[in-house]
Amino acid sequence: MKKDIKGRSIISSLPQDTLVEVAIQLASKSSTPLDNIRSLRATCKSFHRASRDKLVGRSMAVDKEEKRWWEENNSYLALLRNCADCGNLEAHFILGVEELYNSRRAVSGLQHLQLAMDGGHLTAAYFLGVVLFRQAATRSDAMEILNRVSSGDLSNTAADVAGCTISGNPIIDRCREEAVKMVSRNWKKEWEMELRSPCTHPLCGAAAKSRDQHWVKRDCLPRAFCSEFCRWAYECHSFFEKIN
Ligand SMILES: [Zn+2]
Repeated sequence: MKKDIKGRSIISSLPQDTLVEVAIQLASKSSTPLDNIRSLRATCKSFHRASRDKLVGRSMAVDKEEKRWWEENNSYLALLRNCADCGNLEAHFILGVEELYNSRRAVSGLQHLQLAMDGGHLTAAYFLGVVLFRQAATRSDAMEILNRVSSGDLSNTAADVAGCTISGNPIIDRCREEAVKMVSRNWKKEWEMELRSPCTHPLCGAAAKSRDQHWVKRDCLPRAFCSEFCRWAYECHSFFEKIN
Protein backbone atom coordinates (compact mmCIF):
# COMPACT_ATOMS: atom_id res chain seq x y z
CA MET A 1 0.00 0.00 0.00
CA LYS A 2 1.41 3.42 -0.98
CA LYS A 3 2.15 5.76 1.94
CA ASP A 4 2.23 9.54 2.00
CA ILE A 5 5.18 11.48 3.44
CA LYS A 6 3.85 11.06 6.99
CA GLY A 7 3.70 7.31 6.52
CA ARG A 8 -0.12 7.06 6.35
CA SER A 9 -1.85 5.03 3.68
CA ILE A 10 -3.08 7.36 0.94
CA ILE A 11 -6.39 5.53 0.93
CA SER A 12 -6.92 6.15 4.64
CA SER A 13 -6.59 9.89 4.01
CA LEU A 14 -9.47 9.88 1.48
CA PRO A 15 -12.90 10.95 2.74
CA GLN A 16 -15.15 8.08 3.86
CA ASP A 17 -17.82 9.09 1.32
CA THR A 18 -15.36 8.59 -1.53
CA LEU A 19 -14.38 5.13 -0.33
CA VAL A 20 -18.03 4.15 0.08
CA GLU A 21 -18.73 5.43 -3.45
CA VAL A 22 -15.93 3.23 -4.85
CA ALA A 23 -17.41 0.21 -3.04
CA ILE A 24 -20.92 1.06 -4.32
CA GLN A 25 -19.67 1.23 -7.92
CA LEU A 26 -17.99 -2.15 -7.52
CA ALA A 27 -21.03 -3.75 -5.85
CA SER A 28 -23.49 -2.45 -8.43
CA LYS A 29 -21.52 -2.65 -11.70
CA SER A 30 -19.22 -5.67 -11.37
CA SER A 31 -20.23 -9.01 -12.89
CA THR A 32 -18.90 -10.74 -9.73
CA PRO A 33 -19.76 -8.21 -7.03
CA LEU A 34 -19.31 -10.45 -4.00
CA ASP A 35 -15.78 -11.57 -4.91
CA ASN A 36 -14.82 -8.00 -5.75
CA ILE A 37 -16.15 -6.61 -2.46
CA ARG A 38 -14.32 -9.36 -0.55
CA SER A 39 -11.08 -8.45 -2.39
CA LEU A 40 -11.65 -4.78 -1.64
CA ARG A 41 -12.13 -5.57 2.06
CA ALA A 42 -8.83 -7.41 2.09
CA THR A 43 -6.87 -4.43 0.77
CA CYS A 44 -6.96 -2.25 3.90
CA LYS A 45 -8.95 -1.29 6.99
CA SER A 46 -10.36 1.83 5.31
CA PHE A 47 -11.92 -0.10 2.44
CA HIS A 48 -12.98 -2.84 4.85
CA ARG A 49 -14.97 -0.26 6.83
CA ALA A 50 -16.34 1.44 3.71
CA SER A 51 -17.53 -1.82 2.17
CA ARG A 52 -19.67 -2.55 5.25
CA ASP A 53 -21.72 0.61 4.71
CA LYS A 54 -25.46 -0.04 4.28
CA LEU A 55 -25.43 1.80 0.97
CA VAL A 56 -23.10 -0.87 -0.42
CA GLY A 57 -25.46 -3.70 0.60
CA ARG A 58 -28.37 -1.73 -0.84
CA SER A 59 -26.59 -1.41 -4.21
CA MET A 60 -25.22 -4.96 -4.47
CA ALA A 61 -26.23 -6.54 -7.81
CA VAL A 62 -27.43 -9.75 -6.13
CA ASP A 63 -28.98 -11.06 -9.35
CA LYS A 64 -25.48 -11.35 -10.86
CA GLU A 65 -24.55 -13.83 -8.12
CA GLU A 66 -27.39 -16.21 -8.94
CA LYS A 67 -25.07 -19.09 -9.80
CA ARG A 68 -24.38 -19.26 -6.03
CA TRP A 69 -28.05 -20.28 -5.66
CA TRP A 70 -27.06 -23.74 -6.89
CA GLU A 71 -23.45 -23.89 -5.75
CA GLU A 72 -23.68 -22.47 -2.21
CA ASN A 73 -27.35 -21.99 -1.44
CA ASN A 74 -27.05 -21.14 2.26
CA SER A 75 -24.41 -18.49 1.80
CA TYR A 76 -26.37 -16.98 -1.11
CA LEU A 77 -29.49 -16.78 1.07
CA ALA A 78 -27.39 -15.17 3.83
CA LEU A 79 -26.10 -12.62 1.30
CA LEU A 80 -29.67 -11.89 0.18
CA ARG A 81 -30.82 -11.40 3.80
CA ASN A 82 -27.91 -9.08 4.60
CA CYS A 83 -28.57 -7.03 1.48
CA ALA A 84 -32.35 -6.98 2.12
CA ASP A 85 -31.64 -5.65 5.63
CA CYS A 86 -29.79 -2.79 3.93
CA GLY A 87 -32.85 -2.05 1.78
CA ASN A 88 -31.77 -3.90 -1.39
CA LEU A 89 -34.97 -4.18 -3.46
CA GLU A 90 -33.80 -7.00 -5.74
CA ALA A 91 -32.83 -9.04 -2.65
CA HIS A 92 -36.33 -8.49 -1.21
CA PHE A 93 -37.81 -9.61 -4.54
CA ILE A 94 -35.76 -12.83 -4.77
CA LEU A 95 -36.37 -13.66 -1.08
CA GLY A 96 -40.07 -12.92 -1.55
CA VAL A 97 -40.36 -15.43 -4.38
CA GLU A 98 -38.23 -17.99 -2.53
CA GLU A 99 -40.25 -17.79 0.67
CA LEU A 100 -43.57 -17.77 -1.13
CA TYR A 101 -42.62 -20.99 -2.90
CA ASN A 102 -41.83 -22.42 0.50
CA SER A 103 -45.39 -22.31 1.88
CA ARG A 104 -44.14 -22.41 5.48
CA ARG A 105 -42.87 -18.88 5.01
CA ALA A 106 -45.57 -17.45 2.77
CA VAL A 107 -46.33 -14.51 5.08
CA SER A 108 -42.69 -13.48 5.24
CA GLY A 109 -42.47 -13.91 1.44
CA LEU A 110 -45.39 -11.52 0.92
CA GLN A 111 -43.74 -9.04 3.30
CA HIS A 112 -40.53 -9.11 1.24
CA LEU A 113 -42.49 -8.50 -1.97
CA GLN A 114 -44.39 -5.66 -0.29
CA LEU A 115 -41.10 -4.03 0.82
CA ALA A 116 -39.69 -4.35 -2.72
CA MET A 117 -42.87 -2.81 -4.11
CA ASP A 118 -42.84 0.01 -1.54
CA GLY A 119 -39.32 0.83 -2.75
CA GLY A 120 -40.56 1.04 -6.36
CA HIS A 121 -39.58 -2.41 -7.75
CA LEU A 122 -42.06 -2.84 -10.61
CA THR A 123 -41.44 -6.54 -11.31
CA ALA A 124 -41.82 -7.45 -7.62
CA ALA A 125 -45.09 -5.49 -7.56
CA TYR A 126 -46.26 -7.28 -10.72
CA PHE A 127 -45.48 -10.68 -9.18
CA LEU A 128 -47.25 -9.70 -5.93
CA GLY A 129 -50.25 -8.60 -8.01
CA VAL A 130 -50.61 -11.85 -9.95
CA VAL A 131 -50.16 -13.91 -6.77
CA LEU A 132 -52.79 -11.92 -4.84
CA PHE A 133 -55.19 -12.06 -7.77
CA ARG A 134 -55.52 -15.82 -7.34
CA GLN A 135 -57.49 -15.40 -4.10
CA ALA A 136 -60.93 -13.74 -4.14
CA ALA A 137 -60.22 -12.00 -0.80
CA THR A 138 -57.18 -10.13 -2.14
CA ARG A 139 -58.29 -9.64 -5.73
CA SER A 140 -59.26 -5.98 -5.52
CA ASP A 141 -55.87 -5.16 -3.90
CA ALA A 142 -54.22 -7.14 -6.70
CA MET A 143 -56.01 -5.16 -9.41
CA GLU A 144 -55.03 -1.89 -7.75
CA ILE A 145 -51.38 -3.00 -7.66
CA LEU A 146 -51.43 -4.14 -11.31
CA ASN A 147 -53.05 -0.87 -12.42
CA ARG A 148 -50.26 1.02 -10.63
CA VAL A 149 -47.61 -1.19 -12.24
CA SER A 150 -49.09 -0.50 -15.68
CA SER A 151 -48.75 3.26 -15.00
CA GLY A 152 -44.99 2.71 -14.48
CA ASP A 153 -44.99 4.61 -11.17
CA LEU A 154 -45.86 2.79 -7.96
CA SER A 155 -46.11 6.02 -6.03
CA ASN A 156 -49.35 6.71 -7.90
CA THR A 157 -52.40 6.10 -5.75
CA ALA A 158 -55.45 4.18 -6.88
CA ALA A 159 -57.18 7.51 -7.54
CA ASP A 160 -54.37 8.59 -9.94
CA VAL A 161 -54.52 5.46 -12.07
CA ALA A 162 -57.29 4.48 -14.44
CA GLY A 163 -58.47 0.88 -14.31
CA CYS A 164 -56.86 -1.06 -17.13
CA THR A 165 -59.06 -3.02 -19.57
CA ILE A 166 -56.67 -3.46 -22.53
CA SER A 167 -53.67 -5.81 -22.73
CA GLY A 168 -50.39 -5.02 -24.48
CA ASN A 169 -49.05 -2.46 -21.98
CA PRO A 170 -45.24 -2.55 -22.56
CA ILE A 171 -44.45 -2.14 -18.83
CA ILE A 172 -46.65 -5.12 -17.93
CA ASP A 173 -45.13 -7.14 -20.80
CA ARG A 174 -41.60 -6.39 -19.53
CA CYS A 175 -42.49 -7.21 -15.90
CA ARG A 176 -44.09 -10.50 -16.98
CA GLU A 177 -41.00 -11.42 -18.99
CA GLU A 178 -38.64 -10.62 -16.09
CA ALA A 179 -40.77 -12.38 -13.47
CA VAL A 180 -41.14 -15.49 -15.66
CA LYS A 181 -37.37 -15.54 -16.27
CA MET A 182 -36.54 -15.29 -12.58
CA VAL A 183 -39.17 -17.72 -11.32
CA SER A 184 -38.60 -20.42 -13.91
CA ARG A 185 -34.82 -20.29 -13.47
CA ASN A 186 -34.83 -20.91 -9.73
CA TRP A 187 -38.06 -22.54 -8.69
CA LYS A 188 -40.10 -25.48 -9.82
CA LYS A 189 -43.58 -25.68 -8.44
CA GLU A 190 -46.91 -26.39 -9.97
CA TRP A 191 -49.22 -23.50 -9.22
CA GLU A 192 -52.88 -24.29 -9.20
CA MET A 193 -54.50 -22.41 -11.99
CA GLU A 194 -58.07 -21.35 -11.82
CA LEU A 195 -60.31 -22.04 -14.74
CA ARG A 196 -60.37 -19.43 -17.42
CA SER A 197 -62.64 -16.47 -16.80
CA PRO A 198 -66.30 -17.44 -16.99
CA CYS A 199 -66.95 -14.19 -18.84
CA THR A 200 -69.74 -14.54 -21.39
CA HIS A 201 -69.47 -11.08 -22.91
CA PRO A 202 -69.30 -11.79 -26.69
CA LEU A 203 -66.48 -9.32 -27.40
CA CYS A 204 -64.48 -9.68 -24.18
CA GLY A 205 -60.84 -10.27 -25.13
CA ALA A 206 -61.27 -9.48 -28.79
CA ALA A 207 -58.32 -7.88 -30.57
CA ALA A 208 -58.54 -4.22 -29.62
CA LYS A 209 -58.69 -3.04 -33.23
CA SER A 210 -60.61 -5.59 -35.25
CA ARG A 211 -62.71 -7.01 -32.40
CA ASP A 212 -63.04 -10.28 -34.24
CA GLN A 213 -61.26 -12.81 -32.05
CA HIS A 214 -62.06 -14.15 -28.64
CA TRP A 215 -59.34 -14.08 -25.96
CA VAL A 216 -58.74 -17.81 -25.92
CA LYS A 217 -56.75 -17.26 -29.11
CA ARG A 218 -53.18 -16.06 -28.60
CA ASP A 219 -51.18 -13.49 -30.47
CA CYS A 220 -49.37 -10.24 -29.79
CA LEU A 221 -52.30 -7.96 -30.53
CA PRO A 222 -53.61 -5.87 -27.66
CA ARG A 223 -56.94 -7.19 -26.52
CA ALA A 224 -59.87 -5.26 -25.12
CA PHE A 225 -61.76 -6.71 -22.17
CA CYS A 226 -65.20 -5.99 -20.78
CA SER A 227 -63.77 -5.19 -17.33
CA GLU A 228 -60.62 -4.77 -15.25
CA PHE A 229 -61.32 -8.17 -13.77
CA CYS A 230 -61.21 -9.90 -17.17
CA ARG A 231 -58.09 -7.98 -18.25
CA TRP A 232 -56.14 -9.03 -15.12
CA ALA A 233 -57.55 -12.58 -15.14
CA TYR A 234 -56.12 -12.87 -18.67
CA GLU A 235 -52.77 -11.50 -17.42
CA CYS A 236 -52.58 -13.95 -14.52
CA HIS A 237 -53.45 -16.81 -16.80
CA SER A 238 -50.69 -15.75 -19.23
CA PHE A 239 -48.16 -15.57 -16.38
CA PHE A 240 -48.93 -18.88 -14.66
CA GLU A 241 -49.21 -20.67 -17.98
CA LYS A 242 -45.63 -19.61 -18.77
CA ILE A 243 -44.12 -20.78 -15.48
CA ASN A 244 -45.98 -24.07 -15.13
ZN1 LIG B 1 -65.12 -10.14 -19.71
